[in-house]
Amino acid sequence: MKKMEDKKIAVCSKCGASWIDGQLFWSTGKEGDPHDLAGLVCNNLGDETCINPCKGSTSGDSWERRIDGLKNLLKEGEDDNG
Ligand SMILES: [Zn+2]
Repeated sequence: MKKMEDKKIAVCSKCGASWIDGQLFWSTGKEGDPHDLAGLVCNNLGDETCINPCKGSTSGDSWERRIDGLKNLLKEGEDDNG
């Protein structure tokens, strides 16, 4: 007999993200990528209480990457001004 309780649910007490059967869900309930979570949250705020298995990963989205994108946009704008 199959039990519904077989779902493995883990919640990170640091960032509030939860993993249900290995799938990451943001604290908002949206599905997420643990690499993005690491780059945006856990790498900055996480400590030994963070359960994100991808903590320390930089292959996902990160503020640096987002800021780089903004910088490139600004640069293009500056180039236009001469
Ligand atoms: Zn975390």
